[in-house]
Amino acid sequence: MKLLDVRRLITEIDSARVVDDVSFHVDAGETYALLGESGSGKSMTALSLMRLLPDGGRVSSGAVELDGENVLRLPEQEMRRVRGGRMAMIFQEPMLALNPVIKIGEQIGEALALHQGLGGRAARAAARGLLDAVGVPDAARRLDTYPFELSGGLRQRVMIAMSLAGEPRLLIADEPTTALDVTIQAQVLDVLRKLKAERQMGMLLITHDLGVVAENADRVGVMYAGELVEQGERDAFFAAPQHPYSRMLFEALPRPGDDGRLTTIPGQVPRLDRPLEGCRFAPRCPFAFARCRDESPGWQTINGQQVRCHLAGTLPAGTPPAFAARVHAVQTPQPLLQVDGLKVHFPIRRGLFQRTAGYVRAVDDVSLTIQVGRTLALVGESGCGKTTVGKALLRLIEPTAGSIVLGGETITARNAASLRRQAQMVFQDPFSSLNPRMRVADVLLEGMDALGVGAARDRRDVVAQLLQQVGLPDDAGGRYPHAFSGGQRQRIAIARALAVSPRLVICDEPTSALDVSVQAQILNLLKDLQDRLGLAYLFITHNLAVVEYLAHEVAVMYLGRIVEQGTAADLLHAPRHPYTQALVSAVPRIEAHRDVGGTRLSGDQPSPLNPPKGCHFNPRCPQASDIC
Ligand code: SF4
Repeated sequence: MKLLDVRRLITEIDSARVVDDVSFHVDAGETYALLGESGSGKSMTALSLMRLLPDGGRVSSGAVELDGENVLRLPEQEMRRVRGGRMAMIFQEPMLALNPVIKIGEQIGEALALHQGLGGRAARAAARGLLDAVGVPDAARRLDTYPFELSGGLRQRVMIAMSLAGEPRLLIADEPTTALDVTIQAQVLDVLRKLKAERQMGMLLITHDLGVVAENADRVGVMYAGELVEQGERDAFFAAPQHPYSRMLFEALPRPGDDGRLTTIPGQVPRLDRPLEGCRFAPRCPFAFARCRDESPGWQTINGQQVRCHLAGTLPAGTPPAFAARVHAVQTPQPLLQVDGLKVHFPIRRGLFQRTAGYVRAVDDVSLTIQVGRTLALVGESGCGKTTVGKALLRLIEPTAGSIVLGGETITARNAASLRRQAQMVFQDPFSSLNPRMRVADVLLEGMDALGVGAARDRRDVVAQLLQQVGLPDDAGGRYPHAFSGGQRQRIAIARALAVSPRLVICDEPTSALDVSVQAQILNLLKDLQDRLGLAYLFITHNLAVVEYLAHEVAVMYLGRIVEQGTAADLLHAPRHPYTQALVSAVPRIEAHRDVGGTRLSGDQPSPLNPPKGCHFNPRCPQASDIC
């Protein structure tokens, strides 16, 4: 059973939420470390548990259960017995906790009288025993000294001894060694470790020092601006911290052999007395994108660690020392998707023994790049292989060759499912892409459940947000797909893709089955979502008017190959390849009553089973010459 269970704790000081929706637990015999910079809310969390908040402070909601009893509900008189009794606290500066004009023996005796009813000789003997337990040398004599006569390390030990007078089940240690020399720090931490093990106490250790956490904690919670942003087992946390803030804390550490400047975390913890939107770390985060500024990230579980970051699990992996280089790499944007030499060849089997008689080269050596928050349109006639590219990227079709790197990770057959969180697909036909027997809410929940996105209890709320985001009515979740129009179904399909918070959405002709007015709504929606969420799109289409509206970059595909790539502005207004020129001039325009002329294509696209020799486009190209 949990010794301490803190649930959704919110603490306010005047108008500032200094602890915001914090939940964690501490088991008997374990040390849970709360880590973070000053101002992150660690100490306020501890003071909230003790109900020792400064003037103007109050716990406005949440529960703090100690052995199953919510101490927030106890009358103050009972709380006084809990404080220093079942739950004790030691502070950074012992002089603030010790009375300078009372001898140490008396001060410990008072605590023993209050919590154990001891007095006289029994109290003196017990006080001596406690000083022995915390390693104060010559304990009998020290009982008759004043705090100012002791060194910092001894004063800290005395305070620990005093905190043990009530035989606490939980010891809260708030930066207990920050004011001490490193050698004394090691001794005091040894004492705390020994006491915890002997007495099976739970310990809440508050510190900004990663070294202290590494040596003493069983589990770790990282706080930033009043919120917990990462929690997990110590070893997993140290092997691979997941949150950008945690990683930057590591990077700021001096390491043996470092000769350059240390990495700093730019900026400061934000003020908490103002409304905060989105991720609170966004102003300091090198990975922040549009969505981070609008939407507060929910909890996600990555390798057993809980993380609050929109990019959880998608940041480049690596141990902390390797991280700095990557942070700098991200500051100079890296492609979100990098495809090199992608081939998809389908074997043609013939005869009784189904021998391979040849290959359909549906995709033949395609290379593409998409940056975070950008749209690459993949354009071409039907049968050119563009949909196959989209499916191969998600490994819905197995590629024959080539590499696909998404968010810094190579997609292989093994990790394809897990990477599907980062990339989702919206298909052409909204009528057949939704299961008619599932209610819309269940359609949206299916992906979240399968990929373990967010906390299960929050998923219904996420569904409501998604429906709102794509402009569907509140009650849409309870209805079946057949109750919706084509445009609305495509909105449902988009919401389904967004449900797992992807970074890349592959849209395969998503508006080609829709009326032009509905198409405009869906295109506007996709653009809005990109601005708000920082999504990247691979937009597969044959419609150049749509490309002009939505795309930043364009790749033109013909018979399995990319024939021209460039920015949308360059490619649409000054196409170089004869095929692109032909496509552009074929776009019907309102001003078509003026004869715009241009290149016209003749004939059909040849079969990819038997593509023409040389340039695949040569049989249809008005400019073809011998060399082609
Ligand atoms: Fe950075 Fe965005 Fe993650 Fe916040 S949610 S930590 S800003 S990447």
